[in-house]
Amino acid sequence: MEIMKNCFASDNYAGICPEAWEAMERANRGYASSYGDDEWTAKACESIRRVFETDCDVFFVFNGTAANSLALASLCNSYHSIICHESAHVETDECGAAEFFSNGTKILLVGGENGKVDLDDIQHTVQKRSDIHYPKPKAISITQSTELGTLYTPDEVSAVGELAKSLDLKLHMDGSRFANAVAALGVHPKDITWRAGVDLLCFGGTKNGMAVSEAVVFFDKALAREFDYRCKQAGQLASKMRFLSAPWTGMLENGAWLKNAAHANRCAALLESRLKEIPGISIKFPREANALFLELPGDLPDKLKALGWKFYSFIGAGGARFLCSWETSEAEIDCLVADISTLAKFEK
Ligand SMILES: *Cc1c(COP(=O)(O)O)cnc(C)c1O
Repeated sequence: MEIMKNCFASDNYAGICPEAWEAMERANRGYASSYGDDEWTAKACESIRRVFETDCDVFFVFNGTAANSLALASLCNSYHSIICHESAHVETDECGAAEFFSNGTKILLVGGENGKVDLDDIQHTVQKRSDIHYPKPKAISITQSTELGTLYTPDEVSAVGELAKSLDLKLHMDGSRFANAVAALGVHPKDITWRAGVDLLCFGGTKNGMAVSEAVVFFDKALAREFDYRCKQAGQLASKMRFLSAPWTGMLENGAWLKNAAHANRCAALLESRLKEIPGISIKFPREANALFLELPGDLPDKLKALGWKFYSFIGAGGARFLCSWETSEAEIDCLVADISTLAKFEK
């Protein structure tokens, strides 16, 4: 089979996994009530409650930008602020959607090693001002796994959770790659969410193998009040909701979500171990889930692109990012490694 050289560009380049596809097909037999008032949506919400072992409120939206921005908007008024890492997707890759849907809530940025928020920096950002002229901090947003492919350990999430509590802030988690984090950490999903102080999770389905769908999961159910109206107004209430929700039943009930994530993580680990052997290639951030960031020497990035390989270099300060998915194959890894290895021989 011919290798498609865009296979490592992002985990959203992959298709729909068999379990999600099959569930869509089952949901496609006949009529069903619209706008989420159907058996598939009820089942999917129930599956998510089972996964987290808690009574949470769940909403399905089309994509991650909608999930994050509507979730954050539900936590804040227009005069509030949200604190997140400077590389956070909500800051860098959502075109101001959080600000838009919250009618102007300001995002305040903090630093931190390897894409993870620095707690002292958060504390300073919150406490440096208490006057009426400063946008009042209301929420912290963290990403799991992070934009740089790293992970917050359960202790690290708990530490953010405790800080949030002590500062009277809500804690939001962008879990566009939450499955990869759970699989890589080998933890129970509840131990890196509600038990660790997360009030609200955007649980990614798309990058895990679905066509479209992200679940907004409110562990603090009081925060979900009127969220249905927010979704509708934002154009995020699917009338044929069953096709956003059914895939979740197919993927959560038999563990496909973790199987997919573990496969993607394993592929990234294999890619890392093979590339580490090549002189001149270095790894930019600790490879902990399904993303690998490389520092490629000289004009190797351009030559690799000329060979047809597609990869992003606008995330992670100029590194070359390679992502693995549920669909990544060993043949694809072999092919990329061979090309990088050949090109590296011509670099000093
Ligand atoms: C992909 C991604 C999202 C969602 O992006 P959409 O393109 O809006 O679906 C959110 N957060 C992170 C960290 C992502 O990588």
